[in-house]
Amino acid sequence: MPAALSALAFARALLAWYDREKRDLPWRHKPNAYRTLVSELMLQQTVVAAVVPYFARFMARFPTLQALAAAREDEVLTLWSGLGYYSRARNLHRTARLVVDELGGKLPSDEAELRQLPGVGAYTAAAVAAIAFSRRTLPVDGNVARVLARILSERRPIDRPAVRAGLRAQGQPLVSARRPGDFAQAMMELGALCCLPRNPRCPQCPVARFCRARAARATSSIPARTKRPAKRHIHLAGVAVERQGRLLLVRRPAGTLLAGTWVLPLQEMRDGEAATRAARRALADLGLRVEGTPKLVGELRHVFTHRDATASVFRARVRGRIAVADARWVRGDELASIPLSTFGRKMIACAQASATV
Ligand code: SF4
Repeated sequence: MPAALSALAFARALLAWYDREKRDLPWRHKPNAYRTLVSELMLQQTVVAAVVPYFARFMARFPTLQALAAAREDEVLTLWSGLGYYSRARNLHRTARLVVDELGGKLPSDEAELRQLPGVGAYTAAAVAAIAFSRRTLPVDGNVARVLARILSERRPIDRPAVRAGLRAQGQPLVSARRPGDFAQAMMELGALCCLPRNPRCPQCPVARFCRARAARATSSIPARTKRPAKRHIHLAGVAVERQGRLLLVRRPAGTLLAGTWVLPLQEMRDGEAATRAARRALADLGLRVEGTPKLVGELRHVFTHRDATASVFRARVRGRIAVADARWVRGDELASIPLSTFGRKMIACAQASATV
């Protein structure tokens, strides 16, 4: 039988472990609401090791919310390039502007008010409220949901919103009244270091004595997840066009995959459509006509969150004048200063590795 779940004993054991074992992460130095918000948004769907250098670069360039609000979106996206989920960066930038223009330059401390900001969901609002403002609230992301499900032996799938809400409600009374921000971070740290998705390190766990899943030898079946539908597979065609040593790039429109980032002219292939035809369409959309036939120079695969992509990369010569605003000719040495996604970079590298048409 696990020990009865005493909130005080649970928090004491967890926080003592956190004080001993917590990782030295840059956002834990000089914490404030802005740094917490940036780190929490960067950490969504991304592992800590990947975020550390991005966070350092971002803070060096935008040390305050005001500095971020004053920046151009392109510059923000450039510093986010490669981190994925570019809507997070655009929303963060919008939030900075809104807070500076309408809220006196200070992020609100209230969870409900934080939730009104662009891109700030329930988890992020609770994380900022707890960590930056010591509000007694429990942010529940995937890691924390897993820990709670095991402690409480919740056998229903934790990706169901109602189950997640129930876990949060049951976890909330455990939050330390004295150190709610550290408690939140300790729960996240426990999920990252100890209560791993597979093979949790129960012998090292500071709260093992409270864990019902461990007592029932059910840590491998808890948490349960609903089966995810298979990812959609898409086929894309991208075209490298060069003029006087410059490469033609287009900015992905709002509301599309990789919105706001720059890529080779790109089209998704329609059902049964040949890649060459899609490549022509990508250029026709810009007002350009292909001379001869686009030359296939490579193929690559890329995994996005909700879809897998296969991309055919072409090179082509073109005629005509560009008829859209979001297109530009870019020198090789300028590529580092514009927002490119990992996928965008892969396509450019693929084109550059090929011989000139
Ligand atoms: S005892 Fe094991 S399963 Fe339970 S919370 Fe700790 S690490 Fe997770």
